[in-house]
Amino acid sequence: MRPRDIQRIGEELAIQWEDGSESYVRLEKLRRHCPCAGCKGEVDIMGNLYKNPDRPLPAAAFQLVRIESVGGYAVKPIWADGHTSGLFSFDYLKRVVESPDL
Ligand SMILES: [Zn+2]
Repeated sequence: MRPRDIQRIGEELAIQWEDGSESYVRLEKLRRHCPCAGCKGEVDIMGNLYKNPDRPLPAAAFQLVRIESVGGYAVKPIWADGHTSGLFSFDYLKRVVESPDL
């Protein structure tokens, strides 16, 4: 499933998928699931993420500057703290969106 449109609305990202359904995900949740090597913790085979709890993030880490699409298979959020290395494939994005809130 691919997103047709992604917009930031307040503290959330609103994603419209190609089938017309819509998802909302809090920016904080998105950032905490950043899949880049610097952020991600251990991921088990079910895709559950176990994060290092003693890694406090500044408030700016949860502020989205913009979100870029990458190569037609992923999106890359640009965060206000300068973090840009998290590449969310569409599949991974959908999994984050549908995962229970932290
Ligand atoms: Zn990251």
